[in-house]
Amino acid sequence: MKLNLNNTFSEELPSDPIQENSRRQVRNACFSYVTPKKTSKPEMLHVSEEMSQELEFSKEDVQSKNFLHIMTGNKIIDDTKPYAMHYGGHQFGNWAGQLGDGRAINLTEVVYNSKRWAIQLKGAGETPYSRNADGLAVLRSSIREYLCSEAMFHLGVPTTRALSLAITGDHVLRDILYNGNAAYEKGAIVCRVAPSFIRFGNFEILAAHGDHKNLKLLTDYTIKYFYPEINASGKDAYVQFLSEVSKRNLKMVIDWQRVGFVHGVMNTDNMSILGLTIDYGPYGWLEDYDLGWTPNTTDRQFKRYKYGTQPEIVLWNLYQLANALYPLIEEIDPIENVLNEYQEAYKQEYIDMMYTKIGIFTGQEKDHLLINELEELLQLIETDMTIFFRTLASYKKGDHNQGIEIVHRAFYNPKDLKDDIVSRWNAWFVKYNDQLQNEVLSDEQRKEKMNMINPKYVLRNYMAQLAIDDADKGDYSLIDELYQMLKKPYNEQPEYDKWFVKRPDWARNKVGCSMLSCSS
Ligand code: AMP
Ligand code: MG
Repeated sequence: MKLNLNNTFSEELPSDPIQENSRRQVRNACFSYVTPKKTSKPEMLHVSEEMSQELEFSKEDVQSKNFLHIMTGNKIIDDTKPYAMHYGGHQFGNWAGQLGDGRAINLTEVVYNSKRWAIQLKGAGETPYSRNADGLAVLRSSIREYLCSEAMFHLGVPTTRALSLAITGDHVLRDILYNGNAAYEKGAIVCRVAPSFIRFGNFEILAAHGDHKNLKLLTDYTIKYFYPEINASGKDAYVQFLSEVSKRNLKMVIDWQRVGFVHGVMNTDNMSILGLTIDYGPYGWLEDYDLGWTPNTTDRQFKRYKYGTQPEIVLWNLYQLANALYPLIEEIDPIENVLNEYQEAYKQEYIDMMYTKIGIFTGQEKDHLLINELEELLQLIETDMTIFFRTLASYKKGDHNQGIEIVHRAFYNPKDLKDDIVSRWNAWFVKYNDQLQNEVLSDEQRKEKMNMINPKYVLRNYMAQLAIDDADKGDYSLIDELYQMLKKPYNEQPEYDKWFVKRPDWARNKVGCSMLSCSS
């Protein structure tokens, strides 16, 4: 196994001088050295072929004992020194102080094919940032992260990746619903991979401590390795940095809206400085289209992180990042310009994206009302988002009387289609049809293009739960089946048609399907 090691984060940024693994408040440092916890009986459940190739692992490598022991914390890669990152964050709108990698341990960075990758174990034991928790992860949440991060990659959504999923052979105590019913679950470790795992919170904690020296070091480091396109210097470089970060995060969140992904915990410690989807916890996929939906039971009351507000929450988080970077910029106006630009851009890009979802691609005047009405209609009765947009691709110009027939499969309970609802849909299809008249693409061409934007297969919440239920009984085959299917989410793949269905009724109010907690 040969890896081209190239550690920049730990070599160029200051480390915590204390090396003992005790929980503590860390100052004047970007990370702490730690050693992963040994696992008693590790077993590899799945390895991402695509990701292993990106890292130049051969088939023999990933099947080796060496690989298993490295990816489960029992062995440290020669010439490396694992570490946990120091960060803080705003959680649910409030400053939470130091958080940090409480159960994520960076093994090393490698460079292959001119791409830099940081390799990290999630669930590999305690670190100085573990606060009152154990540093471990359970199989259920690890399957969810493993499958979803790779699925998001194949959907074309910026994301951290997953290399491997293993069980540790150890047991982990969790109280899923925080109601006093703790139980032991199988422990697991996901090896995650990304160019970098730096978050908004890495900047915030340094600013909060008034550690402007390291704040500048971290920002310069991030620009040097991950924003090489920034050509300004001095304060202008930091303004440009904020602007580029906002653009990358805008692209990410518009993609979330496009595929119906709800992150669930958009705290600033869960916002990647590279605009990647990071920290797959109580996330969920929209089944019936509902702007007010969140899968996270912890957020049930205020629904801060519901589907419909995700782009605005990114903006709120950008404000926190801007505050953190202020000591480097020391001027309000250019910062406000960046944030205002985001606000303008997200409204426009959202409408543009929705237009592509309904198959209108030319630069014609975009009628926001057409999209706003569609959003309203989709929420009148339970309507499956994925099935709706996928079946809409079969619409033929001039077919407006049959519009509702074409998308019929998407309605959870067709009996709810009362006359007034049908006539509202029909009116929408008339308008839609009018706009389609200006399109040059043929029906067939439009369908093909729409099918590259509207996935047929997403990791519906109940699907992940079925894989988890089987895995709990020792059957890991569904993990691979879903993994294989989700590699080509836009392809028809008729052999997987049984997964192109609405959420089954049993999953409607089931823990793990529509209700998820942060307990993982
Ligand atoms: P989250 O919102 O789930 O991303 O986690 C917030 C903070 O809690 C982060 O600093 C995590 O590293 C930490 N954390 C979450 N679960 C654990 C755990 N089981 N052990 C230690 N730290 C944890
Ligand atoms: Mg987190």
